[in-house]
Amino acid sequence: MSECVFCLIVAGELPSTKVYETDEVLAIRDINPAAPVHVIVFPKQHYTDIVELGESDPNLGGAMVEAVAAVARIEGVEAGFRTSFNTGKGGGQTVFHVHAHVMGGRQLSLSLG
Ligand code: AMP
Ligand code: ZN
Repeated sequence: MSECVFCLIVAGELPSTKVYETDEVLAIRDINPAAPVHVIVFPKQHYTDIVELGESDPNLGGAMVEAVAAVARIEGVEAGFRTSFNTGKGGGQTVFHVHAHVMGGRQLSLSLG
């Protein structure tokens, strides 16, 4: 998966700004933030999307949830933020290595559009 951007970041072959890291999960600042706080949380192991992850390794999904909570605390947005997993082209996914967006720091719209 050497052409996968997030695998390259895990391997240290692409730069990133780390927010949080465990043995299993990495959280980095989004390169093109859509909110004052915009962090991307992903497993170090490559899975394409949340369907593949959920069916193959749900415990790793739990580790991602733990990391989302840690990132929300670190960034001071635990009282109000949005977490989304875009899945497939139809869901707006552009990087095909499963990841959660953690967005906050401004009032987010009610629409999920
Ligand atoms: P998605 O559209 O859900 O697949 O989200 C992919 C996200 O990854 C986008 O918000 C991009 O801005 C972000 N992204 C892409 N490449 C990088 C990178 N090298 N470092 C940090 N974030 C990135
Ligand atoms: Zn990958």
